[in-house]
Amino acid sequence: MQGFIETHRLDPDKEDVSKRLRHFEEIYRFYTSRLVANQSERCVQCGDPFCTTIGCPLNNAIPQWLEAIAEGDIEKAFLLSNETSPFPEILGRVCPHNRLCEGACTLDDGYGAITIGPIEASITDLAFKAGLRLPFPGITTDKKVAVVGSGPAGMSCAHFLLRAGIKVDMFERAELPGGLLTYGIPGFKLEKETIRRRFAILKQAGMTLHLGVEIGHDKQIEELQNHYDAVFLGLGATNGKRAAIEGEDHEHVYMAMDFLTNVQRRLYGQSWMERFSVLGKRVVVIGGGDTAMDCVRTAVREGAESVTCLYRRDETNMPGSRKEYLNAVEEGVIFLFQAAPVKFDIDEKKRLVGVDAIRTELGEPDADGRRRVTDIAGSEHCVPADVVIMALGFDMEGLPFVADAGVKLGKWGEVEIDPESGRTSHPDVFAGGDCQRGADLVVTAAADGRRAATAIMQQLLG
Ligand SMILES: Cc1cc2nc3c(=O)[nH]c(=O)nc-3n(C[C@H](O)[C@H](O)[C@H](O)COP(=O)(O)OP(=O)(O)OC[C@H]3O[C@@H](n4cnc5c(N)ncnc54)[C@H](O)[C@@H]3O)c2cc1C
Ligand code: SF4
Repeated sequence: MQGFIETHRLDPDKEDVSKRLRHFEEIYRFYTSRLVANQSERCVQCGDPFCTTIGCPLNNAIPQWLEAIAEGDIEKAFLLSNETSPFPEILGRVCPHNRLCEGACTLDDGYGAITIGPIEASITDLAFKAGLRLPFPGITTDKKVAVVGSGPAGMSCAHFLLRAGIKVDMFERAELPGGLLTYGIPGFKLEKETIRRRFAILKQAGMTLHLGVEIGHDKQIEELQNHYDAVFLGLGATNGKRAAIEGEDHEHVYMAMDFLTNVQRRLYGQSWMERFSVLGKRVVVIGGGDTAMDCVRTAVREGAESVTCLYRRDETNMPGSRKEYLNAVEEGVIFLFQAAPVKFDIDEKKRLVGVDAIRTELGEPDADGRRRVTDIAGSEHCVPADVVIMALGFDMEGLPFVADAGVKLGKWGEVEIDPESGRTSHPDVFAGGDCQRGADLVVTAAADGRRAATAIMQQLLG
């Protein structure tokens, strides 16, 4: 219980910058069995563990699996951590821990929070390496559910339904499953093998995966409703937001997902487009969230001459993970804070030559707790650029085929649900993840998938 005094917080080792910029592989080296136990011993086993109750959207039993692994019981820790979470080794890698479980840890003030994320990733990595397997019963009921979308929301719903012995058919329009885990989040943050392994597990547990099938185009929701006992929609929201400023439709102003997906497709050996190349170019990325950090770090690895990130608030108000921002700084990205784009500069030969930016000042926090931004008149200046990547967040894709099936959409085009169950206005159709809450996090999509699976089980099995 006093382990935190003798043992300091130790983040996992990172590959040296000079080496890691040459590839897209994961940069962290997660813990060995000895280190994972050592770091877990720091937990003080609070009576009311805020990490679980306030920090983690899945309410993972964090102190329990920390205690198990501290005692060297890898199997117990593995089963406990996989009990509430559909893919702990993925969430341990991609969650913004400082804002979630680790931010809520009692030791965060003064001693350094328990390294919950890396421990969580290490437990399941080590368990799989040791040959441990997750218990699935096989298909033991006569019920079947269609899951549309193979991102974290769909994966999570499928995982919990399969654990209840319910047959799952998953429909995905892309060539590979995993949604943004596969085509958005780069490999240097999330080892792609972790996604392949999870789909192998789901298939072994009895899931049938239908790739290259777009619901609303190749098949309608009504067909699914006729053939299945319930339908789960985990469609995501990847329509990049635009800034609506002059010059934005220039061919060298890219949307973040076009840029990231193109690189990822090339790395997977799929068709890709040369026109998104940033080799030898001065790149400016606009935005300060996780997507912007992924774009700047990808551009550095793609051989850009320089990479600058323009963000209208300051460092402390960045919405993404602090760890990823610090990694970007280490990798040579230049940050221009409190600067907002007003126009793209295009020369007489129609070449993009820069971004006109205006300096901003920060006022009182708004309703979401984020400080308001005001432009400072007369502070316009040019930031040179050959390529600009827009990473300003995402909107709903527009889901007319969902509305046509009698499922109510909200004012932003999101799928409306009952917050207790994830049930839509149609009694057999459930939804969760970004298509319902707007662009958010992997862990919240996972929590939504689990909530819907629980409600579907109650509806089908009683
Ligand atoms: C670049 C980037 C980096 C990010 N980094 C992080 C991070 O570090 N940490 C974090 O927690 N979150 C991160 N996020 C956010 C996170 O990835 C998303 O919140 C999460 O993936 C949402 O899960 P989802 O299942 O709702 O949607 P998605 O992951 O978008 O999956 C939806 C799936 O549905 C499929 N689909 C859509 N329509 C149809 C249809 N009609 N028929 C069949 N299939 C369909 C899509 O092809 C896709 O595969 C990041 C997002 C981006 C874009
Ligand atoms: S799922 Fe995310 S928030 Fe929950 S314990 Fe794991 S890393 Fe922390």
